[in-house]
Amino acid sequence: MQELSHYINGARVAGTSGRFADVMNPATGEVQATVPLASVEEVNEAVAKAAEAQVAWGATNPQRRARVMMKFGALINENMDTLAELVSREHGKTLPDGRGDVQRGLEVVEVCMGAPSLLKGEYTDNGGPGIDLYSMRQPLGVVAGITPFNFPAMIPLWKMAPALSCGNAMVLKPSERCPSTALMLAELLKEAGLPDGVLQVVNGDKEAVDALLDNDTVQAVGFVGSTPIAQYIYSRATANGKRAQCFGGAKNHMIIMPDADMDKAADALVGAGFGAAGERCMAISVAVPVGQETADALVDRLVPRIEKLKVGPYTGGEDVDYGPVITKASETRIRGLIDSGVAQGAKLVVDGRDFKLQGYENGFFIGPSLFDHVTPEMDIYKEEIFGPVLSQVRTDSYEEALKLTMDNPYGNGTAIFSADGDTARDFAHRVNVGMVGINFPIPVPLSYHTFGGWKKSAFGDLNQYGPDAFRFYTRTKTVTARWFSGIKEGGEFAFKQMD
Ligand code: NAD
Repeated sequence: MQELSHYINGARVAGTSGRFADVMNPATGEVQATVPLASVEEVNEAVAKAAEAQVAWGATNPQRRARVMMKFGALINENMDTLAELVSREHGKTLPDGRGDVQRGLEVVEVCMGAPSLLKGEYTDNGGPGIDLYSMRQPLGVVAGITPFNFPAMIPLWKMAPALSCGNAMVLKPSERCPSTALMLAELLKEAGLPDGVLQVVNGDKEAVDALLDNDTVQAVGFVGSTPIAQYIYSRATANGKRAQCFGGAKNHMIIMPDADMDKAADALVGAGFGAAGERCMAISVAVPVGQETADALVDRLVPRIEKLKVGPYTGGEDVDYGPVITKASETRIRGLIDSGVAQGAKLVVDGRDFKLQGYENGFFIGPSLFDHVTPEMDIYKEEIFGPVLSQVRTDSYEEALKLTMDNPYGNGTAIFSADGDTARDFAHRVNVGMVGINFPIPVPLSYHTFGGWKKSAFGDLNQYGPDAFRFYTRTKTVTARWFSGIKEGGEFAFKQMD
């Protein structure tokens, strides 16, 4: 059995707490490795060493730091297949999806190659007699990243690349379910020239997270995961005086207008609803057709597409559409929610509960399910299922569909399919959701824009990656400077006026 490690001061280091978690192979249901769960002492030691390393890294000029990102980007490209395989092996997603996971993280690294231009300060010449003002963006010091299981490469990269480019040291606590990719990324960063200690990877669970939240040296916390934990981490981090941005769960609605191209809408729903077994924070989990005819036309198109989906292990290659869910507990929870949908009166049009895969009977596989006639009171509507289940809520008007989307407590992503530009534009302007797709089902913004939900999908006031990340990971210091050579008068006792 492989025993994984932490990554401290530029090397893989065995855990000393004596506590371990199992890392499963979701396709077979077997334990494939164990991961150490760090103690408070191990976390504090990693933070202390990161603080030492940060001093020189923060003083390194930004273009030298950017060169580390350039080399890092090249190494990620060279190791793309290995990284994608690591992602898929622990998560269970298909290899093309594993590559997408790495690629969307790499794109944030690419933006960080231009970090110096994003770290420029501001300058006011002659703001008063002989007085100039300038502001600079300085690193925070040691920051923490806490990441979920569902994007083992992308989300750690969204955290580490901007944080490090800004001159911070980071202690990253990846998901204990998929820890290997972060360890390899740390090794690639070392190879790219990152000094030891600037990125520490500490594996662990709540004990390690709480140690980070309570450590006075940690200046900021970037979290991605489920909403209850996001809210908890935001509260505890900010109560301890830290900066925090905590991204949570989602229930993403896609509105289908009667004038939409129904085939394209159905294709989009199948990909966005069932891709990665629905384990994406930007998955579409609710289809909202406008009008009964639209709803019927959509179901007619969805059913054959869903019935054709191929579910299997990532080793099945390009032929597999999606894989298992992450744990047995997750599988049980999803099955329970499907049962609740039936019990509460939704129509289960495609039932994925009986799905079995020969040779993988102990894997955490669930076939795709489609519910019609779902209502907002049902648990399958209220809960983030995070599994291969698509719910259709029928509406009679655009306003009703918009209101449904807006009344939902989550606000991560949403989409509208329509041939009418006015309706789509109205939707984009009015909807209270952070990321909107127009005839585009999973609108994860490109890396030079920025990612963040609204409402219960995010706690904190800045988004992740893009320009917001450079604000989050730096503090502004403003200097008012005067040189006395040109000033003849003596002491001044009135509050200085700049005129
Ligand atoms: P999770 O909340 O269970 O875990 C996320 C991280 O928090 C992990 O590192 C975990 O070890 C830690 N953690 C878990 N319980 C904790 C506790 N009680 N105290 C302290 N730390 C704890 O989330 P997950 O199951 O790994 O990921 C799936 C969730 O993440 C979904 O809800 C999904 O929507 C969300 N997600 C959101 C985004 C986004 O950007 N908004 C992106 C990806 C995933």
